[in-house]
Amino acid sequence: MFEIAGLFLDDKSSAHLDAVKSLSEYLDTMLGEKPNATSLFAMQQQAYEIHTLGVASLERAVMTDRSFDCKGGCDSCCHATDVGLTPSELFYLANHIVTEGLHKKGDSHVIQPRQQEKDPCPLLKDGWCTVYEARPMSCRYILSTDVASCLRRRETLIGGARLPPPFSHFRSSIAAAQFNMFRKRGWDARWLVLDHSMQKTVEDLPMVTRWLSGERFSEKIHKLEEPNGTFGALVDAIS
Ligand code: SF4
Repeated sequence: MFEIAGLFLDDKSSAHLDAVKSLSEYLDTMLGEKPNATSLFAMQQQAYEIHTLGVASLERAVMTDRSFDCKGGCDSCCHATDVGLTPSELFYLANHIVTEGLHKKGDSHVIQPRQQEKDPCPLLKDGWCTVYEARPMSCRYILSTDVASCLRRRETLIGGARLPPPFSHFRSSIAAAQFNMFRKRGWDARWLVLDHSMQKTVEDLPMVTRWLSGERFSEKIHKLEEPNGTFGALVDAIS
């Protein structure tokens, strides 16, 4: 079993790397010997539940004398940003959209790439996330202690939400555990961008089975990025 406190670190200490590796192995057991869409979605659900638990315990530990500014209807963090997803998050969210029939509910659910950098996420409607329970980790970990910085980002594209560092380290650890698992299984493990990937994935859900068989994402349809920077170094360190 993984040591959850190690996932809040970003120092590549043995405690940090052991925790990420252990989480990777734990999530991998959920896929089984013959992974399929069902086991992939169960693994992703488990990753989100671990994230929720971790954020709650972090909040108790580090938010003792202040609180987050985030509240329902505040949507600045859904503007002016590319939402990155791991492959399993992409398929999990596409499956949610199809299962809930959201793709059939009119033009607002045609998931087109944003036209300008300040545009909102295509899944935002009237200030609310239409896929809240299935939203990616990129959205789950954004909590702000300074709503003014979020509004400034929305208007000027400079800066962004302010949150205590362990929250972003925790999210990186969970994503790195997933990339490690996917690499070991020989699956195409790159960051995807929501608005450049979702419509085609919704239209072609069987892609999940082909991806599990080793098919790579199409460069024409998906905006992709290899893990890089500090995050890439973490993925490399545990691979
Ligand atoms: S998926 Fe939902 S929470 Fe995330 S950016 Fe889009 S509308 Fe906002």
